[in-house]
Amino acid sequence: MQMFVILLQNTLGAGGMGAQNSLESPTEYGYTARMVESEKLFERACCVIPGGVNSPVRAFRRLERAPFFVSRAKGCHLTDEDGKQYIDYVGTWGPAILGHAPECVLEAVQAAIPQGLGYGIPTRVEVEMAETVCRWFPSVEKVRMTNSGTEATMSAVRLARGYTGRKYVIKFEGCYHGHVDSLLVSAGSGALTHGEPDSAGVPEEFAALTIALPYNDTAAVAAAFARYPGQIACVIVEPYPGNAGFYLPRPGFLEFLREITARHGALLIFDEVMTGFRISPAGVQGKVGITPDLTTLGKIIGGGLPVGAFGGRREVMDCVSPLGPVYQAGTLSGNPVAMAAGLAQLRYLEAHDSYTRLEMLGARLEEGVRRILRDLALPLTFKRSGSMFCLFFSTEDVYDLRTAMRGDFEMFRRYFLSMLEQGVYVAPSPYETGFLSTAHTEADVDATLAAMQRALAKVRQM
Ligand SMILES: *Cc1c(COP(=O)(O)O)cnc(C)c1O
Repeated sequence: MQMFVILLQNTLGAGGMGAQNSLESPTEYGYTARMVESEKLFERACCVIPGGVNSPVRAFRRLERAPFFVSRAKGCHLTDEDGKQYIDYVGTWGPAILGHAPECVLEAVQAAIPQGLGYGIPTRVEVEMAETVCRWFPSVEKVRMTNSGTEATMSAVRLARGYTGRKYVIKFEGCYHGHVDSLLVSAGSGALTHGEPDSAGVPEEFAALTIALPYNDTAAVAAAFARYPGQIACVIVEPYPGNAGFYLPRPGFLEFLREITARHGALLIFDEVMTGFRISPAGVQGKVGITPDLTTLGKIIGGGLPVGAFGGRREVMDCVSPLGPVYQAGTLSGNPVAMAAGLAQLRYLEAHDSYTRLEMLGARLEEGVRRILRDLALPLTFKRSGSMFCLFFSTEDVYDLRTAMRGDFEMFRRYFLSMLEQGVYVAPSPYETGFLSTAHTEADVDATLAAMQRALAKVRQM
């Protein structure tokens, strides 16, 4: 493997992205890729928004080019400000499981709007949403809505501490649980992309109660419980980690977490903000049959609008204010327009056998990718479950943050730019998950595979 990387680095090496590949010149794919409007907007954005973006990975910073600005999106397609269309595998970073702007969600939002945009008073649709979540997730007996995944994880950890009366939290390196101070320790996603898994502005005292351990390392978890007896409030985990690429738990790892937390009176929190309603109707827990104490949700649950949720065992959830002493609130939480959008998306998913379709598309993509890698004798690591996938630019197995980071970034960068040039938008970072939607067709997947074949062949040659 080492040889392989060195070989690639040498061939990709100095002067790599030469003039013939400049995005300012006409490309071999027959159009000029220079993005006049996007570049103008990015210049303006950079004057008034830090890095020109409202969330860091969007800036394409390590890719050394301006991001494209989207003017509209429908189905699996994005259209940018210069009128160029892309097949999208980022899917709003997870929420767009039915593709962009699905009719069912648009109709629900349009029906909700004339009733008012929100009142800060209970509404019928909040009850319907809570009933739906509790029905889909057997582990969730009560649920509270928030406005983002970050709020959900922050509240769930506070609740775990309040319920157990304990201080310490175990998390795993490379797992991302939103930008909560105490969880921005060895965090994945944008934090990783920009090389800052530990954020400035988080005093060490805040981080001191967070124990970050390697994913899939049962011995490390056992050692932490032995070291802090009776002091660990919870273990929070992405049951299928999707924020340092996408990889899977080893057989028995999640079962081990369930067993050891129960034995020590700590809570097990499944952060299913990304995997909830995605890996199965009831997320990873529905697929593997493990019952966590608390679950955090987000992304898909909002149908494209800003929504998160945390829920779990009744006895634990009843510690939340106003029933219990753990304070948690939100001016816009349970917003009726957002609830209507989310509910419409969930109802559609349920009514249309969506998970069979997503698995079919995922399997088709995986088969194609494996064939391409075989044909090119490029034994890169590819991971997939259902509609989530990741191509690692590494030939070694990936099962934790350390192995996820072994990939060749320059190789990824060239692959990404070639895909973009060919009208396929994959995540602009090697540490993000790819998402299929029900709006992708077999033809979209096949077109993507053709683009991938060209992109990887080029990367291979260099
Ligand atoms: C996206 C994500 C979050 C944070 O959600 P936001 O809505 O971005 O705050 C938390 N946990 C996981 C697993 C996520 O993927």
